[in-house]
Amino acid sequence: MKLPKKGEIRKPTKTISGVTPVAVMLPPRPCSHGACVYCPNLNVPQSYTPKSPVVMRASALGYDSFKQVKARLKAFELMNHPTDKIEIIIMGGTFLEYPKKFQYDFVKGIYDGLNGKKAKTLQEAKRINETSKHRCVALCIETRPDVCVEYIQRLREFGCTRVELGVQIIDNRIYKLVNRGHSVQDVVEATRALRNAGFKIGYHIMPGLPGSNPKKDLELFKKLFSDERFKPDQLKIYPCQVMPGSVLEEWYWEGKYKPYDEKQTLELLIKMFKIIPRYCRVMRVMREIPPEYIIAGLKRIDLRQELDKELRNSKIKVKEIRFREVGFALRDKRKIKKKTKLKITKYKAFGGDEYFLEIVNDDDILFGLLRLRIFRDKNKKTAMIRELHVYGPELKIGEHSGVSQHHGYGKKLVKKAEEIALKNKCEKIKIISGIGVRKYYEKLGYYLDEIGGEYMVKDFNKI
Ligand code: SF4
Repeated sequence: MKLPKKGEIRKPTKTISGVTPVAVMLPPRPCSHGACVYCPNLNVPQSYTPKSPVVMRASALGYDSFKQVKARLKAFELMNHPTDKIEIIIMGGTFLEYPKKFQYDFVKGIYDGLNGKKAKTLQEAKRINETSKHRCVALCIETRPDVCVEYIQRLREFGCTRVELGVQIIDNRIYKLVNRGHSVQDVVEATRALRNAGFKIGYHIMPGLPGSNPKKDLELFKKLFSDERFKPDQLKIYPCQVMPGSVLEEWYWEGKYKPYDEKQTLELLIKMFKIIPRYCRVMRVMREIPPEYIIAGLKRIDLRQELDKELRNSKIKVKEIRFREVGFALRDKRKIKKKTKLKITKYKAFGGDEYFLEIVNDDDILFGLLRLRIFRDKNKKTAMIRELHVYGPELKIGEHSGVSQHHGYGKKLVKKAEEIALKNKCEKIKIISGIGVRKYYEKLGYYLDEIGGEYMVKDFNKI
């Protein structure tokens, strides 16, 4: 690894959104439904390639979660990144389909890796992490929509705060054609259960699947945000590529399938970005697949940069979160007005009200956000904070030198959410919190309610 010069941070965009992302890869295991036609078959974690950096790192460490976390922390430290606020992402297959004991051991290994020592139980490892040097502020698990609803409680036990669902497209005919093994109704049910339990919800979307075309992709994409059964908080957009060992490879050579070219993909993405609402963040565009593993389809991993450039030059008003984040504005040396205001967007989702609170300046640059859900749970009005995030380059816990983090924006957003909850006659407000953020919420008057999913809670009747 190339080391940075004194005072320099290598790959600064890695922590530009306020947290340090640590990906932990699962050992290879075939999906139980069979294989989707586009999924490569390369004897590594399903849907990955042997030369993907994260796979190479994980396989060298025997896919041990403890060792993977320790190694990533060390690498970030060598690159001069802060490692106080860690976002864990478990990748590489449908985690919730692995044997139950393996799942618990794997997650415990992650917390132990962050804590730098091995605890006796997962519960103990989580407790240590509340005050450890490397705190888990968010934990993301990827799963299939049909392997989700029955595991909500377990996800909370793991300290999970975000779930990414492999949705690809919301069309049953295409699901059948590509052997997805689940239906649109599974997507609906998973989204409903996750939303009401307070999780942040990400969808993986795949334009250009067999049976689709750019017009259809766009129509179904629009539906994601107009139909209140979906409305994801985040997206990863991975245009379909032909990879070795997949059924799609055979279809490609037989002339039965052709992926979109660069022009078609870029045109479609621009149209998609035009309609993405302000409450949604596009985490990635294009998968990080080494070009030698792409038989046909777009090979440009850097397409997002090209897309951003096109969107900024075209003066299209893009509302998507990442496009407006203060960290990227700083990186691009744009002038940033310091005066900020609170903006609230209210929208419906699954019969409940979502309040999307933002701290923005006059140019719509985003400094922080909060997602509040108010819905009826067993006939009681419930308020749930699904996310609190202050953007800008990550600062160490207790540090105050940046433009955004540690300026009281988080506190201001939580206070406003409490006001909205009270106005809606909710007796309590709950927060789905990463283990490492619990102490922060305690300072704001919240306590850990261990019954029913370990949420941080404030009871308005007890104030
Ligand atoms: S669900 Fe994902 S990992 Fe499993 S076969 Fe389909 S694409 Fe591959």
